[in-house]
Amino acid sequence: MIPVTKRKLISIPAGTALVLLAVLLAGSLFSFSCAPAPRPPAGPGDPGDSGKPPAGKQPELRAFFINVGQGDSCLIMARTGSGEEFTLLVDAGPAGASEGVVEFLREAGVTEIDYLVFTHPHEDHIGGGKAVLDAFEVGKVYMPKTSHTTGAYEQLLLTIESKGLTVTQVRAGKVILEEKDFEVEFLGPVKSYEDLNDCSAVMSLTFGKKVLLLMGDAEAQAEKDMLEAGIVPDADVLKVGHHGASTSTSGEFLKVSRPSVAVISVGPNPYGHPSKTVLDRLERAGVKVYRTDLHGTVEVVIKGDRLDVSTR
Ligand SMILES: [Zn+2]
Repeated sequence: MIPVTKRKLISIPAGTALVLLAVLLAGSLFSFSCAPAPRPPAGPGDPGDSGKPPAGKQPELRAFFINVGQGDSCLIMARTGSGEEFTLLVDAGPAGASEGVVEFLREAGVTEIDYLVFTHPHEDHIGGGKAVLDAFEVGKVYMPKTSHTTGAYEQLLLTIESKGLTVTQVRAGKVILEEKDFEVEFLGPVKSYEDLNDCSAVMSLTFGKKVLLLMGDAEAQAEKDMLEAGIVPDADVLKVGHHGASTSTSGEFLKVSRPSVAVISVGPNPYGHPSKTVLDRLERAGVKVYRTDLHGTVEVVIKGDRLDVSTR
């Protein structure tokens, strides 16, 4: 576990106060209206008495795609070949699911979050951020640079500042963790975009020979730019972009990323997520699809060459 360090917030640019004021005046114009009550998540099981896996065990990565309704939150707990343990949280779900997310993390044995990533400022990804930051010690916070903002984003920035934490900007190509058999890298955004979804932090997590690809809400343009940059990995697990919207998960992207398992984090919504187009495309590619709305929380366990998926 890396030591938790705290620094002063330095990355809020000049003029942010005006932006924040504008946001306050604008109210929740950009906020998503969906805040479904999540099913209470169950614990991951076998966390050990102290909540930590017992020492001396084999390297293992567990990823939980938490059922937060319409939104995203993925908890990753990894024990590397050197015995180091890391906890990452990628997005915190919508505000309506925040209690469930905090409870899930506690039951999973989380006491500190080494890396907290908010993929982009939409409420269904950051709404639970305040509750998570209030409940857990956090080492580093990552977010992409965006020119837009939302009421939920403003609240999140204020919470981060109040904890004495800094925000590190996501940059494509930046490796944030490089350990024995475990590497975490940002693949996107490779450019700046008008569309907040395309600004999403896209992450690849390589554990031994297995690769998890977490897309945030990145859409086809961001996928195309990553393909052109030649940085899309051969993946085993794909956290499907933008809750399975038809504007993400292009055929070309699937052809290169070649996942065997896809997870769609989605709940009741008025947007038609996930789209039949994407579901059909995944089926044609022979990808096994798990959906949080149908299966509940999806757990992926990687141990050596084994990759197992279960749902709860
Ligand atoms: Zn979203």
